[in-house]
Amino acid sequence: MTLGTLAAFALTSVAMVRLRADSPAVSIVPAGLECLAKVYGGRTVPAAPKERSDLSRFLILSNDTRILWDDHIDKSFDEKLARPDLEDTLSIPYPLTDNYLPLSINFDPGRFRSMALLKAVYGDTQSDVKKNLTSITWAPSGKKIRFNRQLGAAAALQQVGKQLAGMNGVTRYVKNLGGTFNWRVIKDTNRLSPHSFGIAVDINTTFSDYWKWAAPGLDPLPYRNRIPMSVVRAFERNGFIWGGKWYHYDTMHFEYRPEFFCTSDEK
Ligand SMILES: [Zn+2]
Repeated sequence: MTLGTLAAFALTSVAMVRLRADSPAVSIVPAGLECLAKVYGGRTVPAAPKERSDLSRFLILSNDTRILWDDHIDKSFDEKLARPDLEDTLSIPYPLTDNYLPLSINFDPGRFRSMALLKAVYGDTQSDVKKNLTSITWAPSGKKIRFNRQLGAAAALQQVGKQLAGMNGVTRYVKNLGGTFNWRVIKDTNRLSPHSFGIAVDINTTFSDYWKWAAPGLDPLPYRNRIPMSVVRAFERNGFIWGGKWYHYDTMHFEYRPEFFCTSDEK
């Protein structure tokens, strides 16, 4: 290659890079945003050609609610709990394995929740959520329980119940539930609990462990769990995450969050 062709080659490369950067076809939607759009039945706004930054990206739900993907604010753990953008909510991947221990400090996949998303999908107020509740039969007890019908949450829970009812040795953990729908804030916070939206279920409280019940002042928190992994897997197969895989553990708690199973969907 002569100096002349080298220069021509270099020029062509620069031109190609420019072309690519200006072409809307190269606007790549972040995988997490794509997953949310797929799971929550929404679409994404492509980045505007002139302002190619994540600030122009939104998740747009079927009811036209627009939720910002990335606010570009660096947040502490507590700030992410209080004010996560969509990107923050997915910033800790949920471990789909039985070998999830040890859990590092603040490893809480799923505890950052977008209130805007939950309200848009499951109901904005207590009465809106109640209109979306449906009654299903919980197979391990035969009792009726209320859960949100939106996004297939109630149907998914019904499936979990059927699978658990067919398993040996798990009845005592799942027969008497601690609760499902309950419009309330999370203990010692002003944040709405996922139970408020009818998308979370607490199994038998007798066998549950909660980080706030652990001896105070210990750092790191001592982990404790008595729930068998077979129960956990039945929930996970149907799109529920488990509070036992959190550093701030809550082992009776299961929550319908299908966005954490996007990759495992594509079997
Ligand atoms: Zn709970």
